[in-house]
Amino acid sequence: MPDSPAPTRVLVLNSGSSSLKYQLLDMRDHRRLAQGLVERIGERTSTLSHTSLVGTEPAKREREGRIADHEEALNAVSEELSADGLGTDSPELAAVGHRVVHGGKLFSRPTLVDDAVEREIERLIPVAPLHNPANLTGIRTARSLRPDLPQVAVFDTAFHTTMPESASRYAMDIATADEHRIRRYGAHGTSHAYVSREAAKLLGRAEEDVNVIVLHLGNGASAAAVRGGRCVDTSMGLTPLEGLVMGTRSGDIDPAVVFHLVRNAGMSPEDVDVLLNKKSGLLGLCGDNDMREIIRRTGEGDESARLAFEIYIHRLKKYIGAYTAVLGRVDAVVFTAGVGENAAPVREAAIAGLEEMGLALDGDLNAVRADRARLISPEYARVAVAVVPTDEELEIATQTYALVSGVDDTSSATRADN
Ligand code: ADP
Repeated sequence: MPDSPAPTRVLVLNSGSSSLKYQLLDMRDHRRLAQGLVERIGERTSTLSHTSLVGTEPAKREREGRIADHEEALNAVSEELSADGLGTDSPELAAVGHRVVHGGKLFSRPTLVDDAVEREIERLIPVAPLHNPANLTGIRTARSLRPDLPQVAVFDTAFHTTMPESASRYAMDIATADEHRIRRYGAHGTSHAYVSREAAKLLGRAEEDVNVIVLHLGNGASAAAVRGGRCVDTSMGLTPLEGLVMGTRSGDIDPAVVFHLVRNAGMSPEDVDVLLNKKSGLLGLCGDNDMREIIRRTGEGDESARLAFEIYIHRLKKYIGAYTAVLGRVDAVVFTAGVGENAAPVREAAIAGLEEMGLALDGDLNAVRADRARLISPEYARVAVAVVPTDEELEIATQTYALVSGVDDTSSATRADN
């Protein structure tokens, strides 16, 4: 009997508290075979929206009805995949890759999940109370569905574990910080890793030789200073609240604002948590957290939208300047995620006035809408400016596959055209 070919598919799972996002990829050519999203898990009406990508055209199917928990959700996903001949029982499935938000100091690489790894992810719940419990539920569910299959945890914090202590420590009492594991862990690491590597490819240079500033601007937003493929600083801290102005998060703020609100505004710590995480940022400033709306309103002369835009840009510029100083030499500033990839006015405003730092934009290139990695700076600019679409699922799949197959594929992990 000839040996059956080695399995090449990876199922990527991103479990939220009431949602489950998934993608199935074939790692031979990085083609997406299926993707989907289960929402409102545990509520009265849950939805599953599944897209099969194996035919000539994407085929979308929707389901409605109560899905009680993540186990039911994964079973429903499994049924949808089976209907396309891609079931989780298939021998072609090599592994499941799980996005895990917080891996603390310990997990600096993708890690094969066993009981001890599960316990460590659980131990980190106090520093990631919103995310790690859901990620853990996803892992446990997938392990019970296919106990024989390798399950790999890919940590959002892993890329940032290379930060030096000077960047990862807060200047606070060191014993208290250590006792409570208070330090800067960062987030969006999977995206920063992928985008900084793709940026080096775009420049036609080895990752080890380039220094880049990555600006991941989605609803959540963070910057990273990456020297030779290793993160040396990032703007998110103990939690994703620190750093840039975001859709609903304040980003950097004097911590004394919290004491002030507790002492003088009668707010509880929980109230302040909600205020700064969910009701601040662009939303708090002007009532909208979608950059498209803010740009539209600004165009119509809306003052609060203009102010929100200006505060957002001011903070971005501060980080570009700070990370230029941290890196010493910058080869590229790279925009990614929903705002970074799509909002030309944000890129234009963020780079404007930075000519002395070697930065400039080509207006025509900046105006092009495309979903491929591209340079948007003129040839004469000392520092390249680029747009690189992020692809966290591909990065998770690539890291997962590398671990289980022993094939490190990152140098060719560029997204396929689907
Ligand atoms: P996340 O993954 O953090 O939820 P995304 O990276 O998908 O976020 O980014 C979502 C954000 O991208 C939206 O809130 C919106 O502000 C912004 N966005 C998407 N398309 C555009 C566009 N064409 N112009 C400006 N902003 C956009």
